[in-house]
This record gives sequence, C-alpha cells and structure tokens, in this order.
Amino acid sequence: MFFHAHPDDEALLTAGTMAMLAAEGHRVVLVVATSGERGQADLEPGEALGAARMAELYASAATLGCARVVNLGYGDSGLAPGGGIADDRPDNAFIDADAEEAAQRLAAVLTEEKADLLTTYDPAGGYGHPDHVQVHRVGGRAAEIAKTPIVLEATVNRDPLLRGLRLVRRFYPQLDIRAFERAYSPGEVITHRVGVRRFARQKRASMAAHASQATGADTRTLGVMLKIPQPLYRLVFGTEWYVRRDVPLGSRLRHPFETPPRG
Ligand SMILES: [Zn+2]
Repeated sequence: MFFHAHPDDEALLTAGTMAMLAAEGHRVVLVVATSGERGQADLEPGEALGAARMAELYASAATLGCARVVNLGYGDSGLAPGGGIADDRPDNAFIDADAEEAAQRLAAVLTEEKADLLTTYDPAGGYGHPDHVQVHRVGGRAAEIAKTPIVLEATVNRDPLLRGLRLVRRFYPQLDIRAFERAYSPGEVITHRVGVRRFARQKRASMAAHASQATGADTRTLGVMLKIPQPLYRLVFGTEWYVRRDVPLGSRLRHPFETPPRG
C-alpha cells in the first residue's frame, strides 16, 4: 500500500516501485489523504479541481497497475506562500485532522488489504509541505495499529540531486537550489535504492496523467521537479529511494521486500 498526500505525489516518488511490484504480481493499492483540491491549476481551487485531480489519479493508477485507489477525503491544507501552513486552509484540512483518528482510518484499509508493506514519507515530508509531514505521522501510526510488517519512507537522495544542481548552476547562475538543500534525505540515511529504469515508461505516463499540475506556481512537488534540468531527470527517473527505520543505517538494499542478511 502506497500512502500519499495528494494526487501526483505518487508519480514522482513511488511510481516506478508501484509498477515494478504490480508487474511482479503484487496487489498494489494507492491511498491519498486528500484530492489535492488546492493544487495549482487553471481551475479555481475547490471541488471541481479536486474531482479533476482524482480523475488524473485514477488514470495514473491504471498506468501503474494499481488494483485499488482510496481517498481518505481530508481537505488539502495547501501551502502558505514561501512554505508552511496556510491560514486560509479548509475546515477539514489534513494538517488539522486528529492524527490518531486518521491513523485508525488508514489502519482499517491496511487490515482489510492484509498489507505486507506501507510507504509513507520522511519526517521532513520531503520538501516540507504540511500535508506531507502529516503523512509521515499518520502513516507510521497506522502501520503500528495494523501491525504492518514493513514501513518504507519514500524520499529522494538529496546528495546526487544537489551535486547535479550545483554543476548545472555553473552554467545557469540564476538556478535557485536553496529549496533543495534541506529537502528530502541525505544518502547516508537511505536504506533502499530501488532501480526503476525498466519502468520509466510507466513513470513518465503517471506524471503525464497529472497534466493539471505540470504548469503554474512552483510550490508543488511536480512543479518543482519539472524545473529540474534534463540530465537530472534520468537520475530521478532511474532510482526511487526509501528509508526503513528498523534496518541498519547505511543498508544498501535494492528491493522493497529485501531485508539485510543476518549476522
Ligand atoms: Zn503533495
């Protein structure tokens, strides 16, 4: 089960892993906390945008071979200008939800599906969107309640990303990389590096399914990532990164279900 904050987060962070596991015959379930109704788009934020983004999510899920899509139905908390929690968020914003109650709801789906594995986010919520931080909290607790054996925190290895961006900055001094310096996770804490190059076609199709998020403001993951210069794309497309807290730091595992050799 792959738990994400908004439609389109799956495309960037876990799409290759989802396509791989589906191809291996696993039942893959995609859960979102919100319909992303405060994302960027030509549509006004609200119900119509939420419905459009859920339609995009279903298209993405079909591309990746998902068996089921679940929306927990919380309100998209949005992002304040410059980051942080927006003042004008909806009443049912995910960030304001009782984490225990939300975890119970996610745990019910985990139990119903007898899930072997749950993905959440790193504690920083990747680039710091409040709903992503909440995914980390709620996901971790839900796995405890449902006794889900494996929890992987989906992240990006910021080291090669920053190296690449610094290189690119030599030629494009206007490139602002500050947003990436504290984002996601350093390589030393990452335990799983999943090679997904074989599923690049599905991953690209998943991204393309979220057409509404490819333009406009730069605060959303997809918007941010689409600004990454071309050569770095291959890097981001080729590998997906996870942190599993109950295996030794520095484990270099290659598959979501792989555990380190004993001893
Ligand atoms: Zn998101």
